[in-house]
Amino acid sequence: MRNGSTNQSGKILATSEEFVPTAFHVPGELSGMPLHEFEQVHWQVAMKRAIRSGLQLRKAVGLSPDSAEVVDPSGKLACEQDFPTFAPLEFVARIEPGNPDDPLLKQILPVAAEQVEQAGFAADPVGDLNALVSPGVLHKYEGRALILTTAACGIHCRYCFRREFPYQETGSRKDDWLPSIEYLKNHSDVEEVILSGGDPLTTLDEKLDKLITALEGVPHLKRLRIHSRMPIVIPQRITEELVKRLSSSRLAVWMVIHANHPQELSEGVLSRLAHMIDAGIPVLNQAVLLRGVNDQAETLIELCRRLVNHRIQPYYLHQLDRVRGAAHFEVPVETGLKIIESLRAVLPGFAVPQYVYEEPGAKSKSPLLDNTFKVN
Ligand SMILES: *Cc1c(COP(=O)(O)O)cnc(C)c1O
Ligand code: SF4
Repeated sequence: MRNGSTNQSGKILATSEEFVPTAFHVPGELSGMPLHEFEQVHWQVAMKRAIRSGLQLRKAVGLSPDSAEVVDPSGKLACEQDFPTFAPLEFVARIEPGNPDDPLLKQILPVAAEQVEQAGFAADPVGDLNALVSPGVLHKYEGRALILTTAACGIHCRYCFRREFPYQETGSRKDDWLPSIEYLKNHSDVEEVILSGGDPLTTLDEKLDKLITALEGVPHLKRLRIHSRMPIVIPQRITEELVKRLSSSRLAVWMVIHANHPQELSEGVLSRLAHMIDAGIPVLNQAVLLRGVNDQAETLIELCRRLVNHRIQPYYLHQLDRVRGAAHFEVPVETGLKIIESLRAVLPGFAVPQYVYEEPGAKSKSPLLDNTFKVN
C-alpha cells in the first residue's frame, strides 16, 4: 500500500506510483541555489525528488533540527504521520536560507502547533462530504461541478482544508473518471467543470487528455476550469504540449492558480504562465489569508501588483477554512477587512481579490464585506 495515491485512511498524499521517491541526494543547504537548475528537470522527476520530511526540509533551508518537536526515531513529527511533508526543490529553493519565519517555509514546514486541538476546527470544515453527489464529484453551486481529479498534490500546504479529506471514501479513483462523466452527462444544467483534487496537474498528460476528451464529449459543457498549484510549485509542469492541448479544446479553458506570497512568483513561474496566457488561456489567482505569511497589507499589495503586472487576475482571497491542525494560521476577519481596504486604496479595482469564506450549505462562496460578518 505504500505506493498508493492515498494512505490507509485515504488522505491526501503525493506518492502515487508515478512519484515514488528517488534516491536523489538533497543538498545540505539548498536555498539560494540557482532556480533555473531545478526547473530544467522533467516535472515528474521534480515530484520524485521532492523533500518528504520536516527534518529534511529544515536541513535543506539551513535550519537546525528542532529536537523538541520530534516524536519518532525517524525524526518525524506526529502531524507528519497523517499529513506527510511534501516539498519540491523548485519551491524550496525560493526560501530564504536560515530564516525560520520565511513565508514560503511557513506554508510547508510541519510544526508541533498542528497537534493542538482547537474548538471549531474540524476534519471537514466546508461540508464537502455532504456535497458529494457521485463518486468523485462535488456539486455545490449552480452550473458548476467539481471533479476530485486525484488525491495527489504537488506540494503539501499545512493549512490545506482538504488535509484530512478521505479521498478513498469519495470513490475518486486515480484514472477512472467514468462515474464523474456519467454524472455530468445526466445533469444538463452543469455548464462548467472544475478539475480540482488534490491537484489535477499531477495527472500525467495522457490521462489528463483522456479526461478532457471525455468532457469535451458532453455537449452541454461550455467551460473547463483547472484549479492547480503546480504552475507555482513546479512551473515546468506547464509544458508546450499541455498548453497546446488546453488551448485547442472546444471548451473555454480557465486556469486558477494558487499563490499566497510574491516570493512564490519566480521568473520561471511567470514566464510559463505568460506562455499560457499568450495561448489564450486566462489565468486567475486565489490566495488564502495566512498568519505569518501574508497578513500584512504590503505583502498582499505586492502579490496583487506582481500578478496584474503579469496579466494574472487576483480572484479570491480566502478566509482560512477551519480545518483541524491549521488554527495557528488563522487571521481575524477584522484584520482581513482592513487589509482589503488598504489594497483598494492603492490598486486598480481589478487587482483587488474578493475576500470570501466558505459557509457549508451556502449557494456560493460568501463575501466578507464589513465587520458585521462573522465566521462560525
Ligand atoms: C469553490 C467551489 C467552486 C467554485 O466556486 P466559484 O465561486 O465559481 O469559484 C465550485 N464547486 C465547489 C464545490 C467549490 O468548493
Ligand atoms: S492547498 Fe491545494 S496544493 Fe496545497 S495541499 Fe491543499 S489541495 Fe494540495
